[in-house]
Amino acid sequence: MIANKTALVTGSTSGIGLGMAKALARQGANIVLNGFGDVEAAQREVAALGVRVSYHGADMSKPTEIEAMMAAAAAEFGQVDILVNNAGIQHVAPIQNFPVERWDAVIAINLTSAFHTTRLALPAMQKANWGRIINVASVHGLVGSAEKSAYVAAKHGIVGLTKVTALENATTGVTCNAICPGWVLTPLVQKQVDAKAAAQGISNEAATRQLLGEKEPSLQFTTPEELGELAVFFCSPAANNVRGVAWNMDGGWTAQ
Ligand code: NAD
Repeated sequence: MIANKTALVTGSTSGIGLGMAKALARQGANIVLNGFGDVEAAQREVAALGVRVSYHGADMSKPTEIEAMMAAAAAEFGQVDILVNNAGIQHVAPIQNFPVERWDAVIAINLTSAFHTTRLALPAMQKANWGRIINVASVHGLVGSAEKSAYVAAKHGIVGLTKVTALENATTGVTCNAICPGWVLTPLVQKQVDAKAAAQGISNEAATRQLLGEKEPSLQFTTPEELGELAVFFCSPAANNVRGVAWNMDGGWTAQ
């Protein structure tokens, strides 16, 4: 199905991106990793699945570095068949105190980078009449939460970009869909648990229970493995006509 195709996953040195990369590698896809985490460990974990792996350290806030990454991936593998726009950061503060520099960084990394990778990946996908673009949005692409203005704006934005990308390619073999996770216990969320525990002088366990209890009826984290399996489905022939959806995997968060 996707054996020997090439998947580029932004922000894939940890968390959801690494989970996506491993799920696609298990199906035989070669992988281009990106991100600032433990690169060697990520490369080892993916290579252990028996596929070709490369890494590019482009900073997703810098268009010229994104261009260099896309060119390097095409030079090494011929083309990017599966693009997973996953890199993301968070900053939590009320709007009146939101640092302007953090707003710009969140929008650049969580939203604008996906415009750049998508515009650069599309021509080869269109030529091949096959491609999969998967945008890792969030429940925050569908609903808001206080103190996350930049993140919620960026994630609503990427859901919009997903729809337009899907529509512009609707008569071709190129699909674009978004995945909207609720809470996933990754370094990004661990920071929010730690902040909650410190602010209230409570244990990590109590802070975790509180975090889930506030929003996620299942009281369970979604896992990177589960999200990876959804990405594999989007790449399958059964998903040929799944176009422009924002598919939540959120323990009931947005059903409320
Ligand atoms: P994470 O911190 O584990 O991973 C983020 C990845 O992005 C890392 O590899 C990091 O190095 C990379 N990254 C950060 N800034 C970058 C930059 N400027 N250039 C290149 N790479 C950069 O976090 P995660 O939770 O796995 O987040 C992945 C995606 O999932 C994000 O888009 C996030 O918004 C989204 N998401 C996460 C959750 C959750 O609960 N964890 C929920 C919904 C959506």
